[in-house]
Amino acid sequence: LLPDDFRRRDLLIENLHALQDRFGGLFRRHLTALAEEMRLSPAEVQEVASFYAHFRLLDDDEAAPGAVLRRCTGPACAMRMPERVPEGVVVEEAPCMGLCDHAPASLPGKGVVSDAILHEDYPVLARCRSGELPRDEVLAELERAGLRGMGGAGFPTARKWRAVAARPGPRLVVVNADEGEPGTFKDRWFLQTNAARVLEGALIAAWAVEADEVYLYLRDEYADLHKLLTVLIRALPGSVPVHLRRGAGAYVCGEESALIESLEGKRGLPRQRPPYVAEVGLFGRPTVVNNVETLYWVSRILAEGAELFTDEGRNGHRGLRTYSVSGRVRLPGVKIAPNGITITELIEEFCGGMEDGHQLRAYLPGGASGGFLPAHVTPPLAFGAIEEHGGFIGSAAVVVFSQEDDLRAHALNLARFFAHESCGQCTPCRVGTAKAADLLASPRWDEDLLNDLAQVMRDASICGLGQAAPNVWQSLLRHFPEVVT
Ligand code: SF4
Repeated sequence: LLPDDFRRRDLLIENLHALQDRFGGLFRRHLTALAEEMRLSPAEVQEVASFYAHFRLLDDDEAAPGAVLRRCTGPACAMRMPERVPEGVVVEEAPCMGLCDHAPASLPGKGVVSDAILHEDYPVLARCRSGELPRDEVLAELERAGLRGMGGAGFPTARKWRAVAARPGPRLVVVNADEGEPGTFKDRWFLQTNAARVLEGALIAAWAVEADEVYLYLRDEYADLHKLLTVLIRALPGSVPVHLRRGAGAYVCGEESALIESLEGKRGLPRQRPPYVAEVGLFGRPTVVNNVETLYWVSRILAEGAELFTDEGRNGHRGLRTYSVSGRVRLPGVKIAPNGITITELIEEFCGGMEDGHQLRAYLPGGASGGFLPAHVTPPLAFGAIEEHGGFIGSAAVVVFSQEDDLRAHALNLARFFAHESCGQCTPCRVGTAKAADLLASPRWDEDLLNDLAQVMRDASICGLGQAAPNVWQSLLRHFPEVVT
């Protein structure tokens, strides 16, 4: 049932998954036994198990639920009527599942089946390892392409690698496959269609910084991809071990330092910085953390040349960008488009226009954290171009709303999401997100109080969750005052 080396402290979450998969939940007696076997205190095991939404804690005399359906409450799914549920099935509400292009989404416990393309060719990696592509050239090519982190922060990839390589080893690489921003589903798509390229990018990163091991942290919702990656990882060439780890339903673990805590088998609490994870990361080692999409582009840029990016772009921005588009468009889905495209261009040229009977009223340019923008505000959808309008692009999750959609209700839904996902570690975020959810539920929004709350949360929250959550209400106050007062 449990992995051979299951006593390793960092395998606690994997062990909890193994128990829940087998017994349908985490029974108290099993947690006690696990604590004993792993030589941990029962409180430590309980603390971790109760932190993650996907673990179901059960008393010993409780029956494990039969079939469980997780119903998505993300913004695109909240627009659609939920499907009917067969009798005897337990429904649990869950944050965005990365299936916004199939809204309304529900997952039966173990996820959707994908048509993954298996190709086990790693030509760029072979060129790196053979010396044909020297390290300096690899970094220079990524710099020439202007590749930045596509997880949302946009940090230049080559600079991150250089920073890690400059630290004394041993070093590690972490692949962040925990996309959880409501409205984002591009990493699922990249892994379904191009997992080998993503793995190649990760192994190139490991080669470039001389890392000993790679850890891939995958959203628990993507169970089909877990199977696919297991097969691919087993067949990988070379000597750098790649460890696959499952998340357990905590949005905050998409934040790199929380993800590292989770990989160490702990609660996903973001760390105070400095030190940055490039200096003191996983198991205290210098660590490169890259998002799935970033690693995909690493492999393609090195295979096809920086021109892949430098020849593309629009409205003063350069490169390609992957937009996850959902909501009221004819053709929702993953759209690889010129970086800097505007919302109207994106909808008309890539999404077949708006759905019949719907006009563009508002959109989220960067998922739940990106804020609402009105139809007439159309900046380039690129890093640095949206901030002056009170939002940001993040991971480019574009959710499109029409005149049929109740923006207040959506804002309340998102505020509740942040309150639910706050890890509770710092007071401005823990108290602020809960208070905001209350304030947004009242018929008339208290603008002064909401502004004060936003200020405190932005100034004093430890991580991006607490800093960005106020975008939800601040953007409506700024662009849609008529719906909130
Ligand atoms: Fe946790 Fe929120 Fe503080 Fe981030 S800002 S560390 S999520 S309480």
